Amino acid sequence: MLKSHGYAAYEANSALRPFNFDRREPDSQDVLIEILFCGVCHSDLHQVRDEWNGATFPLVPGHEIVGRVLKTGSDVKHFKEGDTVGVGCMVDSCGTCSDCQENQEQYCDHTVFTYNSPDKQSGLMTYGGYSNQIVVNQRFVLKISDRLNLAAVAPLLCAGITTYSPLRHWKVGRGDKVGIVGLGGLGHMGIKFAHAFGAHVVLFTTSPDKETDAKRLGADEVVISNNPEEMQAHLQSFNFILDTVSASHNLDQYLGLLKRDGSLCMLGVPNQPHPSPSIGNLIFRRRALAGSLIGGILETQEMLNYCAEHNIVADIEMIAMQDINTAYERMLKSDVKYRFVIDMTSL
Ligand code: NAP
Ligand code: ZN
Repeated sequence: MLKSHGYAAYEANSALRPFNFDRREPDSQDVLIEILFCGVCHSDLHQVRDEWNGATFPLVPGHEIVGRVLKTGSDVKHFKEGDTVGVGCMVDSCGTCSDCQENQEQYCDHTVFTYNSPDKQSGLMTYGGYSNQIVVNQRFVLKISDRLNLAAVAPLLCAGITTYSPLRHWKVGRGDKVGIVGLGGLGHMGIKFAHAFGAHVVLFTTSPDKETDAKRLGADEVVISNNPEEMQAHLQSFNFILDTVSASHNLDQYLGLLKRDGSLCMLGVPNQPHPSPSIGNLIFRRRALAGSLIGGILETQEMLNYCAEHNIVADIEMIAMQDINTAYERMLKSDVKYRFVIDMTSL
């Protein structure tokens, strides 16, 4: 076993603290990666507090990983020692089902997530990126361009692909009016991509003080979502709305803003369900209520290449590993511009 160390939650609602643990020894298909930076996703917070149930403790979170290859197995062809690489939310899947065959591994029934998943090979649980190193099958390792700020690339591995994928799937582009709900880690990447794809972008926020930032990030308009008059002005005008809010809220107020055949795509996974939306709101204009989960590995590489070409990275605040508990408290108050990234040299 490979002796590793990081920060873990030892039980739901306890502060994260140092943790020593074993990872499997790299086999012929594996890449051993020294972790340089790890982004802090709201999903980490949901899981360390066991808000989705099913957390296994101690739990080492982190699925926005950028690092350097330390060692490769004998069958690894596309990576070598010293390469800059990324790891997102998944580290394995069955490889044979129709979802895997269609490069949609995130929908496979046997996806191994980067943390809090049973690791088929070792029988251990997987441990995430709030740690010094990680062992990952080569199929789940991404190439990262050294041209970009590596700390600011880390959030692309979850917040980036989770917003890029639905915007591509629903073919958002020039001529579309697109809404992004919530300006946090996912929301700010959603604005950047929708703007880069040529759409007219409207941010819906509960935080009036984020307006200037939203426009700098690429929003054409900003709507304060708890102001009914501002909402009313946009009735039946959107092609597509991407909802990134991490808490339960009213969906009808967004369904009503869609044109005929428009779609509202949910990304947030709150611990309490949303109030049921009105089916009439769907039927009368043939609107769709949908959801989307991260993105496949092929599409994640496509997104990383697109970002390198178009100079797109996250807006980040760098923190030391020891600051993680304060960072979670601030994230809950929407006090982050717009993603915390842990500098792993602090570990
Ligand atoms: P985040 O940085 O905390 O941002 C969430 C934003 O939602 C906040 O900045 C805030 O924006 C808004 N918000 C928070 N509480 C609200 C409330 N009570 N009412 C209305 N708006 C509220 O979180 P994140 O990392 O972007 O993650 C967002 C959600 O997506 C989480 O639930 C996470 O687990 C989920 N997620 C899903 C996937 C997927 O594959 N589907 C992947 C990653 C994350 P304003 O201040 O602008 O209102
Ligand atoms: Zn995430």
